[in-house]
Amino acid sequence: MKLIYTNENRYLVHNIQNIVENSGITIMLKNEFAAGAAGDLVPHETWLELWVLNDNDYDKAIAAIDSSFSSVNETEWTCRNCNEVNNASFDFCWNCQHSSP
Ligand SMILES: [Zn+2]
Repeated sequence: MKLIYTNENRYLVHNIQNIVENSGITIMLKNEFAAGAAGDLVPHETWLELWVLNDNDYDKAIAAIDSSFSSVNETEWTCRNCNEVNNASFDFCWNCQHSSP
């Protein structure tokens, strides 16, 4: 298993999860329910973590994430809250976490 992404912002981690899962890669979330224990843990340890189950999928997962961030996609959507342009696979604005229209 390899860690592919972690972030303090759970919405961003879920966005990345969607991208990777759409590539047909099996992933696992760690710390999904750790937020409630934040008072007892070092904050970084409660960050949601995205892992690929199969190490061989790691490069493919990273490539999927990279291409989703770099590709010009016709189905991008513009956030109604902050006017930021978001990838079609994002359910929430990466900038302000407003939900997609
Ligand atoms: Zn926004």
